[in-house]
Amino acid sequence: MSLTRLELLDEMGLSPQWKLRESTSVRRGEAKVKAGVQANVTGMPAVEVAPIEPSALRPAMVVSPPDADRAQQIAQMGWGDLDQSITACRACALCEQRKQAVPGIGDQNADWLFIGEGPGAEEDERGEPFVGQAGKLLDAMLSAIDLKRGEDVYIANAVKCRPPGNRTPEAPEVAACLPYLKRQMALLQPRLIVLLGKAAVHAVLSVDSSLASLRGKPSTFVNGEQSVPIIVTYHPAYLLRTLPDKSKAWEDLCRARALMGSLKAD
Ligand code: URA
Repeated sequence: MSLTRLELLDEMGLSPQWKLRESTSVRRGEAKVKAGVQANVTGMPAVEVAPIEPSALRPAMVVSPPDADRAQQIAQMGWGDLDQSITACRACALCEQRKQAVPGIGDQNADWLFIGEGPGAEEDERGEPFVGQAGKLLDAMLSAIDLKRGEDVYIANAVKCRPPGNRTPEAPEVAACLPYLKRQMALLQPRLIVLLGKAAVHAVLSVDSSLASLRGKPSTFVNGEQSVPIIVTYHPAYLLRTLPDKSKAWEDLCRARALMGSLKAD
């Protein structure tokens, strides 16, 4: 059964906070949700979403790192060295004003990888991604699809240091940080990547298209032998400012959950 737009908005409790549902965690290999129609396994409404067949996913372009030697070194690192290298990184000007770098957080065997833009003031202070207002909304979004920070979920950013004044990171800053993100992806081997907002889309897919034009379109991150399906959705900070688009983000999350179900069933 599909919900009308009004019912969907009502169900989402369109207020400044995402409507939290009772949390039931999904363990690896457990969820088997059919693509196309969400099974009502957790009290969530059944929402029809366009299925994305894993076989229909197209490769995305991969950006060359600005410094091949540095990128090659990073590409060999394990988690410990990677975190140390990020923490000490001075590859771009963002290091000048950061309090600390914010490498990423979560389950290092996660099926899900969520990628945001870059740390804000609170993240810079605490060294963990998405701990401010946008982070609270991200946690609620995760909870709405029965996920939880740290459990089968890894959260990272396109850039690891706070852009001054929370401005959008510039292309050379994203390019300097990309080897770190790519190494995180290679170490994690996630089944699915969710890109939160334009900066994450630009970093991973190397495209400058609007977010609206990319939502719901199948795409894939390809890095060597690794090929990971991607879901594009709005950044939580944008959703806090633009409540009507929460329903679109909700559709994207349902699509992501359906795709993960079919990927696990494959
Ligand atoms: N916004 C992001 O994109 N990442 C964070 O870690 C916090 C806010």
